[in-house]
Order: sequence, then structure tokens, then C-alpha cells
Amino acid sequence: MEPTAFTFAIERYDPESDESPRVQHYEVEVTDGMTVLEALLRIQAELDGSLAFRYACRGAVCGSCAMLINGEVALACRTQVNGLWTDVITVGPVPNQPVLKDLVVDMGPFFEKDLAVEPWLQPADPAPEGERLVRPAEWAEAEPYTNCILCASCHGVCPVPARDPEYLGPAALAKHYRFLADPRDAADDERLTLVGGEHGVSACDTVWKCVRVCPKGVPPTKGILVTRERLSSEGDGT
Ligand code: SF4
Repeated sequence: MEPTAFTFAIERYDPESDESPRVQHYEVEVTDGMTVLEALLRIQAELDGSLAFRYACRGAVCGSCAMLINGEVALACRTQVNGLWTDVITVGPVPNQPVLKDLVVDMGPFFEKDLAVEPWLQPADPAPEGERLVRPAEWAEAEPYTNCILCASCHGVCPVPARDPEYLGPAALAKHYRFLADPRDAADDERLTLVGGEHGVSACDTVWKCVRVCPKGVPPTKGILVTRERLSSEGDGT
């Protein structure tokens, strides 16, 4: 297939020098199968070396290239330009996080929320000599939540952080449920207290946007709803 010219309308912003974000346009020759990330790399290499964006694995594993593409949060490395069906492609940073420069957001607050739910196994018994084995049927509930790559796409589409910046958010609450559902973990009571406050599971709007956007099939809202049930049946956890 012959290359086709697309216009990329990219949000540019450097908080150290710009008063507000602006949109800059670039014409890019796109070949069949080219991804948005590859187009950004071409812009950076051939048209404008000052364009800032984050990426690493280029295979939808590291989660670092999530961005707003034509108004939808998606991983740039697995979004093909031709599949967007528009001649002008808009690209911006993932919402609900401070912009460091252009498409690069500060993931610090997001990772702090992840750590706040104590995302590590807390079993009651001493470590065995081998692995802590678990039967497949007992593992099925927790398994989808282990696929999170911390891309923050769900956090970007969630309506709650805009009005409540302290809301733990769908990714952290999904991680929390991953351990709540783990049959080897024995810290359920303590874990429930971590998400029982006003910025925890009760703050979720249950609009399911996080579930729809997740590139790894993690269902945060489902875990949040189960956690709410646990809190109401076992006390408020606060
Ligand atoms: Fe990304 Fe899905 Fe994890 Fe949210 S739950 S951070 S969308 S992988």
C-alpha cells in the first residue's frame, strides 16, 4: 500500500514555559499497519525533536504509552493509524494526571495510590519451602486482576478523580481486589479498612468506563462492587 498523508494534531505543553496547552499540527506519511506510536517516533525523528512522549516495550506490555487518541484513551503502540478512520488524528495526554511535558504525565500520584492498597501478599502462615500453591478454581476470581500493566488508562477515563483527586481510583482498587480475592492472603480485615473511607470504593460512580477502556481485560468496577458488598456485610471497615 502507498503511504498516505495524515495530519497529527498534538497537544503541546511545557508547564515551565507555556501559560496553557496549544495544539501543533504535523503531516506524516503513514504506511499500512503503522501505529500511532510509530507516527510519533517519526515526528520526533524527522520533524520535531522537542516533542515529548513516553514509551518502552512497544508491545502493549509496559503500559507507558497510554494517551488520548481521537478523544479515547488507548495505548499508542497498539493503535493503528489506519484503523482510526480520520484524516486528522488528535493526540493528547491521559487526563486526570499532571502534565510534565506534552504527552508525558506525572505517574507519581497514580503509583502512590497503588502502594496505598498494600499490593503484596500477606499470608498468615510462614513461607513454605516451595511455592504457595493454589487450585485453579480458587484462583479464577483473582486472576484477571493480575493482568494490570499500570497504564492508568482507567484512571484517565474515570469521572471521579476530576472532582476528588484523593480518590484511590479504578487501578488501585482493582489491585486491592486482586489481593482480597487471593485465597492465600489472610489480611482481609486490614485490607477492607484501606478502601472503606470516603476516597475508597464508595466514591466509585459505577459507570464502567474503566472496564471498557482497559487494554488487558481487567474489570475494576466488578472488583469494586464485590468489595463494597464485603464492607457492608462485614462492617463499614472504617
Ligand atoms: Fe491499565 Fe487496565 Fe491496569 Fe487500569 S486496570 S491501569 S486500564 S491495565
